[in-house]
Order: sequence, then structure tokens, then C-alpha cells
Amino acid sequence: MYAIAIHGGAGGLPARGLSAARQQQYREALAAALDEGYGVLEHGGSSLEAVIAAVRVLEDDPLFNSGRGAALTSEGGAELDAAVMDGSTLRAGAVAAVRHVRHPIELARRVMEKSRHVLLVGAGAEEFALEEGFELVPNVYFRTAERQAELDLLRGGRSVSELMPSSQGTVGAVARDAGGNLAAATSTGGMANKRPGRVGDSPIIGAGTYARNGVCAVSATGHGEYFMRLVAAHHVCASVEYRGVSLAEAVRETLHERLRALGGAGGIIAVDADGRISLDFSTEGMFRGARDSSGMRQIAI
Ligand code: ASP
Repeated sequence: MYAIAIHGGAGGLPARGLSAARQQQYREALAAALDEGYGVLEHGGSSLEAVIAAVRVLEDDPLFNSGRGAALTSEGGAELDAAVMDGSTLRAGAVAAVRHVRHPIELARRVMEKSRHVLLVGAGAEEFALEEGFELVPNVYFRTAERQAELDLLRGGRSVSELMPSSQGTVGAVARDAGGNLAAATSTGGMANKRPGRVGDSPIIGAGTYARNGVCAVSATGHGEYFMRLVAAHHVCASVEYRGVSLAEAVRETLHERLRALGGAGGIIAVDADGRISLDFSTEGMFRGARDSSGMRQIAI
């Protein structure tokens, strides 16, 4: 069995609801990313290739808070974080606070494969990207009118739910390939109106992203500070491995007990060693999709 799940962020739904047309846009965008990743698995590709392929599609889509369309810092710029983990080797790569890399998830992968490090940040990460021949773009490439309006609302003390379907919109993917290998990837602009230099859970291995063959692969979304304090993604895998609970129970306990007890909320997508998928959230909604080789395919908000 091979399987993939994706998310496009968890958060509050707008007070006035999402128009049918807007919902359709999100569904189509999620379906495109899901099918891109699934296609990799279907053609015998690895889970690592599949999660990168899915996340790349979402990074290019301005509907989501990653790559183009990233949430903006309090100073109006975009600072992007991303991580990838290969559960077959426990190798991982991540970048944080990059400002010019069009596909941060690809740079995270390059950090994993070509550097001696796991996490590169800011100027050092971008120097590495230059050396590796990455496409660099001006920071304004990431900024959309909607994200600017979101920032203006937040600066004025207004609630973000008045404008965006989600104040977050981070993207992620987890997959199990036909060989049983697990992988996870997450990419984000972080939280809207964050201080420049703030790094969330997404690029922190174990907090927002984790994968270990034989156990599970996890990508999180939500209020990153809480996921970091809980080392949430690793907590899910540790619960499966050490306590022997099901993936669904591990995810449930992490979100609805541990995270809630700290005052945090968000969502988690995960896949276990057998290809069983969990999609769970403690927010009003989570953009999500899942597909596996048994024929199951779902997209939901
Ligand atoms: N977890 C991300 C962060 O805190 C935000 C999100 O998932 O929407 O940076």
C-alpha cells in the first residue's frame, strides 16, 4: 500500500464563511498537489520525492502561506521556513527565515543531501542556495495583495478571520511509498505579523516535521510556539513506537490533550508504517487531502 496526505494549514474559518467559488479554488489547489504527489508514488517514486512534489505545488500557489502568498512579518516582508525528513535514514534538512528562495522545500532537501548540517538560516542558507544554483527571487515575489491586507488588519488590531480563511495556511505532506519508506515535508511563511527573525515549528525537526520508518511520518500546522514546546511531531511518533497506540490515538492525544492543555491549537497529518492516514485538527478547519492505493481519495476543508 502506498499513501499520501497533505495539508494547507489549519485555523479559524472566516466569520462570513468561505464563498462556494473560493472553496472550489481551495479544493482544486489541494487536489492538484495531492495528485502530483500521488503520481510520484504511483510511478514507483519514493515517499521523499512525493512529499517534495506535493509541497512544491502548494508553494507556488498564492492561496497558501508558503512560497508565494506567504504570511508577512510585522515589517511587511516574507521570511520562509521549511523542512523535510527521510524516515528511511532519519536524515533531515531544514531552512529558516529565507527571503529569496522560490522553493524553500527544495533548499531544505539540498541541505539534507549536500551539506553537513540539518538546519541553515537566513543569509547563510541563501548563500548556500546561491552556491547550489537555486533560483532566487526578490522578496516582493512572495507578497500578495491579500497578505498585505491581512497584515494591515492585524496591525490595526483586527481579527484575521475577517479576511482570510485561515490566519495560517502552512503546507505539508506525509507519504508512505510501496517500499514502506516514510517521509514528511512542511513549508511556511510562519505566522502573520510575526517579528522578523521569528522561527516556528515547521523547520524544527521533531516539532512540526518528523518521519521514522516503521513508525510514522508527521507534518503539523497551527500555532507553532506550542508545537515546539511539545515537540509535537516527534511526540506522535514516540507515542506510536513506545506506547504502542494507534496513529489516530497518538495524533488525537497530542492535539486534543497535550496541545490543548498548553492553550495551543492546530492540525496534524500523519501516515503510519502500514499506510494508514490520520488527519486531525483542534481548530475550526484544516485544508487537507489524502489518497492511497486502495482507491481512497478525499479533499476537505
Ligand atoms: N506552524 C506555523 C508556524 O507557527 C504556522 C502554521 O502552521 O500555519 O510558523
